[in-house]
Amino acid sequence: MTRLAGKTALITGAARGIGLAFAQAYVRQGARVAIGDIDIDRARDAAAAIGSSAFAVEMDVTDQDSIAGAVAATIATFGQIDILINNAAIFTAAPIVEITRADYDKVFAINVAGTLFTMQAVADHMIKQGIRGKIINMASQAGRRGEPLVGVYCASKAAVISLTQSAGLNLIQHGINVNAIAPGVVDGEHWDGVDAFFAKYEGKAPGQKKKEVGEAVPYGRMGTADDLTGMAIFLASEEAAYVVAQTYNVDGGNWMS
Ligand code: NAD
Repeated sequence: MTRLAGKTALITGAARGIGLAFAQAYVRQGARVAIGDIDIDRARDAAAAIGSSAFAVEMDVTDQDSIAGAVAATIATFGQIDILINNAAIFTAAPIVEITRADYDKVFAINVAGTLFTMQAVADHMIKQGIRGKIINMASQAGRRGEPLVGVYCASKAAVISLTQSAGLNLIQHGINVNAIAPGVVDGEHWDGVDAFFAKYEGKAPGQKKKEVGEAVPYGRMGTADDLTGMAIFLASEEAAYVVAQTYNVDGGNWMS
């Protein structure tokens, strides 16, 4: 269980949910992990629960100074960054005619610009230090197809898939692998917000949308954050050295159904 022994990782949005599961899984594989999140109190609690292999760093991925500060703090603590997971993101939903400019700007600032500029800051460090690092971006099945009420989030995740392709092709010349994971539907607190949107626009009772999408997954249930950790470990490992600019579905067959 030490496929990431001696490696260091920065994971954005890791105070809870999928990012936290990645941090826990990486530590179990021998890595040290920086838990980057805008919710620093929760990030500190998460790091304390993991133990001495983790530390919390406050970062807002919409702010390049904040990204630079978190990258510098991670390097100061661990010496270098071998792995970056761009996991921080927000969800929004609305019919096309009700999408607001503010909502669009916020989602793209976090999901797209946050991914690009955190990737840029860490890649710059990796190139300067000659680190043949691994960068993993969190996409979504929502980036592969449209959904009637989810236009902005879908577009943001399509942009993450596209950025992964371009960055992957650009950075492999430095030995840096950039790939992405596209989950389907994954249980967690994120779904409180999703349910609220579908209650508003489709009149669903709390929990009803989540139940429906879970039952529709060919595997037979909604995913868990732990269902994704195997792919996150593989893409961060040397076994994935020849994997470049790809986005992998880990979705219980949801995308194909
Ligand atoms: P989540 O909402 O539970 O956690 C997101 C984390 O990001 C939170 O800790 C939050 O504080 C942090 N964050 C928000 N804005 C930030 C900012 N500006 N800077 C730094 N941190 C910020 O999300 P999740 O369900 O664990 O999803 C994780 C990733 O997986 C996201 O990229 C999401 O789009 C993707 N994804 C999730 C699902 C799902 O069903 N949960 C499905 C497909 C893809």
